[in-house]
Amino acid sequence: MPWRVSPADRRAGVRPDPYRVWLSEVMLQQTTVAAVRDYFRKFTAIWPRVTDLAAAADADVMAAWAGLGYYARARNLLKCARVVAHEHGGTFPDTRERLLALPGIGPYTAAAVAAIAFDRPETVLDGNVERVMARLHAVEVPLPMAKPELMDRAARLTPQARPGDYAQAVMDLGATICTPRGPACGICPWRDDCQAHARGMQADLPRKLPKAAKPTRVGIAYLARRRDGAWLLETRPDKGLLGGMLGWPGSDWAEKVPAHDPPIDADWRDPGGEVRHTFTHFHLRLSLRVADTTENEPARGAFVPAHRFRPADLPTVMRKAYDLISATLPPLE
Ligand code: SF4
Repeated sequence: MPWRVSPADRRAGVRPDPYRVWLSEVMLQQTTVAAVRDYFRKFTAIWPRVTDLAAAADADVMAAWAGLGYYARARNLLKCARVVAHEHGGTFPDTRERLLALPGIGPYTAAAVAAIAFDRPETVLDGNVERVMARLHAVEVPLPMAKPELMDRAARLTPQARPGDYAQAVMDLGATICTPRGPACGICPWRDDCQAHARGMQADLPRKLPKAAKPTRVGIAYLARRRDGAWLLETRPDKGLLGGMLGWPGSDWAEKVPAHDPPIDADWRDPGGEVRHTFTHFHLRLSLRVADTTENEPARGAFVPAHRFRPADLPTVMRKAYDLISATLPPLE
């Protein structure tokens, strides 16, 4: 993992860079290591220090984040970088309490940065550690009710010596050995102490309350191309889903099929098919309308010239829409 300091470097006295620890922890929320790796490399190549990120244009950061999801994190990332740059002289605070006061840093991230970057004996409880604690102590209360007990169990194990290494080790144990399905108990360093293993119930823990089924919402997105190849896009409002990201103008996403309300006059066609995408709280089925237009004055959004249009700058659902219609586009006249 590119944000880690190797054991050899640690022995040589190299300390983790709080900026890189914070960035990786924010990126890793709700996402996998595999998905984050390239984004982390891209961000640290473009903005190697927190002060560089703080000075970046909002649109550039949102575009670089596109595809990673949970876009409120990107907006908070920028806010936090700017507070660190302007109010803390470009240096991250080094305690959990002071980290918690920064925008977008919750209890988990504050504890993780304090432990990993500053070797504070803070307890880090992510989904991996919850699973390890539930099994180690055979906690049968289902999640999320079990969280306080799991936190208490995890806190009692957090050592005063090398708490940063411990925090990363216990998270790695959950990610690589004590995995959700088929934990590798045979190579687990905690096997002799593990109550779930002793009782043969590791596959049943942690218990979880059944999740409510997600509703389905529907909507329409309008993809308009001008004669010179420019595309009509809009920046979504800061508040709400995909806030601050570029997207195709379209309807609200609701339970009922919306009325046709295009953002510009054109001969709209239905390319067939629909985009399907799942957000945290609902499934989306998005119909598309496509048009080539000679109009220049849309009711909403603005044309992005062809040379500046990069599908990779769009959030995933919007990029899926472009991918779906791009093969059906007639050549420009
Ligand atoms: S012994 Fe098995 S169930 Fe227990 S902590 Fe290790 S991997 Fe997880």
